[in-house]
Amino acid sequence: TRTFWVGGNWKMNGTVAAVKELAKTFNAGTTSSDVEVVIGAPYVYIPLLADSLRNDWAVAGENCYVKASGAYTGEISPEMLKDVGAKWVILGHSERRNVLGESDQFTAEKTVKALEAGLKVVLCVGELLEEREAGTTQTVVNRQLDAVIKAVSEADWANIVIAYEPVWAIGTGKVATPDQAQDVHAAIREYLKSAVSPKVAEETRITYGGSVNAKNCKETAQKPDVDGFLVGGASLKPEFLDIVNATN
Ligand code: 13P
Repeated sequence: TRTFWVGGNWKMNGTVAAVKELAKTFNAGTTSSDVEVVIGAPYVYIPLLADSLRNDWAVAGENCYVKASGAYTGEISPEMLKDVGAKWVILGHSERRNVLGESDQFTAEKTVKALEAGLKVVLCVGELLEEREAGTTQTVVNRQLDAVIKAVSEADWANIVIAYEPVWAIGTGKVATPDQAQDVHAAIREYLKSAVSPKVAEETRITYGGSVNAKNCKETAQKPDVDGFLVGGASLKPEFLDIVNATN
């Protein structure tokens, strides 16, 4: 009963021409009606994408700040994202955490503010290679989840999709095996069950991200605790449509 969910994360890529072209390609694609699709785009392209993209797909920001407005030079509020047509925001992406130095706490605060503004949240979690090798994957992921669990209400989870993105798999071509993804997803669901509630554990979509492509998505999509994907590089290509149709 968890609707399959596929997100694209364009990251810091695109031009006006490329956005128009990709929207055209995606709009022409046939997709199953029981998949939810969201495209994350750089702030400056969100209005154009929201205008050009098919109505059954939604647009996401890739980050936001924790205030609605004010003297925060260079920042963008969740209210602004909503104002220009975004329905979602991606938060806690490993590039925010590891390149921009954003903490679990800051990510949790952003989650609260985004939900308050009426956005849905893609909450990214995942371990570094050295953390996996040290056997601390679940400790790290649970710690990242904990900050958010403490900050939001049980009802808020209806508006959160989790993206498990092992950092060693992002942009590396080293996709997690279907079993590696399933193992962590099952452990996340178990953790939600004890730390939030059985209902939230049962209903929350847990998606996988990291070197997902049209070829490797099919088998992983069949795993019981994999409820979709968050796709980087392949979401900038027509191939993304095949990932949207991974369960067909
Ligand atoms: P790639 O699909 O390019 O590995 O990126 C994954 C990702 O970070 C999606 O948020």
